[in-house]
Amino acid sequence: MEILFNNFKRQYAALEKEIDAAVKETLLSGNFILGEKVKKFEMEFAEYLGAKYCVGVASGTDAIILSLLALGVGAGDEVITTDMTAYPTVAAIMRAGADPVLVDIGEEDGLIDCGRIEEKITPRTKAIIPVHLYGQAADMEAIKKIAAKHNLKIIEDCAQATGATFGKNKVGTIGDCGAFSFYPTKNLGAYGDGGAVVTDDRSIYEKLLSLRNYGRINGNVNGLGAARVFSSLEGYNHQSSGLNSRLDELQAAILSAKLPYLGKWNARRREIARYYQKNLKTVARLKENDYGQAVYHLFVVKCSRRDELAEYLKKNSVGTLIHYSLPMNKQEALNGRQAGKFTVSEKFSKEILSLPLYPEMTDEEVEHVIKMINNF
Ligand SMILES: *Cc1c(COP(=O)(O)O)cnc(C)c1O
Repeated sequence: MEILFNNFKRQYAALEKEIDAAVKETLLSGNFILGEKVKKFEMEFAEYLGAKYCVGVASGTDAIILSLLALGVGAGDEVITTDMTAYPTVAAIMRAGADPVLVDIGEEDGLIDCGRIEEKITPRTKAIIPVHLYGQAADMEAIKKIAAKHNLKIIEDCAQATGATFGKNKVGTIGDCGAFSFYPTKNLGAYGDGGAVVTDDRSIYEKLLSLRNYGRINGNVNGLGAARVFSSLEGYNHQSSGLNSRLDELQAAILSAKLPYLGKWNARRREIARYYQKNLKTVARLKENDYGQAVYHLFVVKCSRRDELAEYLKKNSVGTLIHYSLPMNKQEALNGRQAGKFTVSEKFSKEILSLPLYPEMTDEEVEHVIKMINNF
């Protein structure tokens, strides 16, 4: 039995009719940028999360960059985030002109160690970006307390955690902005790049609309309305340099077709995770905190003989990956500039292995992975 780490063909096969119809309808509409499909998806996604406003953008990386810009964070500012994340979290901070300041992680859950955030705060600190890594919320209560005390903005990196909760709230709705990615591997994936920012603040929302569309005033005029505005003076007036970072109509239509299934998919992810947790014997599992529901973007185990285990599984046709083998403080782009020690994340990065977990996996496949690992 061969078990791929991811298998996107299965999801398309299950939704082929709906996806094809969404794509065809978009092509027939003749409208490809900032039209009705983007508007519709933005409203649906905001409603799903329980946020007031949503702005579709070109990627999860851009969602973080635009959030920072909209909150006025840039050159000379420091932004705190975790040493264990996908590189784009840190790249986005640097792209916005700010300096990333990294915090070590908790060894049980791999999430930012909230007890070590305050020692990294300086007069230049402007924001915290907690990352809901592997689909599990960071401790937002602790982070909100620290942010309130030091007057910091919070941007949640929700790229791996669409639908996860902290307490009663979905992640992304707790900080000032929530940044999402629709990269195809994510829990809600497009068929190309895409991202979104959600916020409850009207003025941040309006800034985001303008920033994603070359800084254009009236950037919030979508679809047919845009044609009318373009012909007026106001439509060609720009309030900032802005970016070109728009979710496109095709991806928005595809995402609207998929969104109704996200709850079911996340529930299946949790079910598979439960099964792994109950039956895996020879490897350590990460802790699921009881303050929320994780959505298992990734199922990560720890093993002191990690490389051997990965090689053994590869020989036995079970796909695995490592998220991530190089902590952020070790990235060449950061030039070894980070102060402090990162003993937990460095050890963690040498022991972790991500197992196949996606909603379309069959019970037999999950059992096969467990059997292979327990025989290691
Ligand atoms: C995927 C990811 C991003 C970046 O999203 P893109 O859409 O690929 O730009 C940012 N942060 C985390 C934690 C991610 O997993």
